[in-house]
Amino acid sequence: MPRRPCPACDRDNADEPPSRYSRDDWQIKDCPDCDFVYLENPPAYEALKVEFAWEKTSEKERVERKAAEPAKQVVSDAAKTARKRLLKRDKLPKLIARHFQPGRVLDIGCATGGILKRLPPEFTPFGIEISKKLAKKGNKNLAARGGEVVHADALSGASAFPDAHFTGIIMSAFLEHEVNPKPLLEQCRRILTTGGAAIIKVPNYDSLLRHFRGARWCGFRYPDHVNYFTPSTLAKMVLDAGLEIARFGLPDRFPLSDNMWLVAGVPQ
Ligand SMILES: [Zn+2]
Repeated sequence: MPRRPCPACDRDNADEPPSRYSRDDWQIKDCPDCDFVYLENPPAYEALKVEFAWEKTSEKERVERKAAEPAKQVVSDAAKTARKRLLKRDKLPKLIARHFQPGRVLDIGCATGGILKRLPPEFTPFGIEISKKLAKKGNKNLAARGGEVVHADALSGASAFPDAHFTGIIMSAFLEHEVNPKPLLEQCRRILTTGGAAIIKVPNYDSLLRHFRGARWCGFRYPDHVNYFTPSTLAKMVLDAGLEIARFGLPDRFPLSDNMWLVAGVPQ
């Protein structure tokens, strides 16, 4: 596996000791310069398309966790379902209604287009998906809406769109998987219209449960999750990419939640 420098500040951390959260061959590094936590040796994009495709590894991870901690997994599955019903269903549509102007919307890492399919009619849905199988299904799902799912890695997919093409971008549970997060955010800035917005949802490495459960925290996924953002490292990367922060209040990065939500905007 090729090693990468810190995706936030480009420091070469090859000689730094691995974090205690490293597992098997997967080396987690905690950048001494900028505090960014990341997987130093992520699988190449090509491997993600088949060998480590998310839909395979996430199922494997779930089964492994269940075997390791059966009772806790059942509780956690039940809690997740309940939380989903109460919260998750509402947060994304609300943020979309509040921050997206009518127009083209891009979901990066859109899987089969589940989110896009449910967008209100004033939006034309577009997606980027690295898994060939999911992208194909996504295209079928979106056919009636006039949109399209591009089968590509996020960075090449985003780079292929013209400037100021989208009024909204969704990256829900995506940026933690992206080996080039900063260049991707820079592309987001370029392909968004002025006044456009990107909604970003990622696991919060600084959440209380990560501190409490350590290596057993649900946010660790090997090798799916290659970036472990805290509220400050996420905000910094968004700003470094030339975006501004439109919304990132305490309820959006509440330490009791495993996830956080940030709305980035394009400065006027
Ligand atoms: Zn760094």
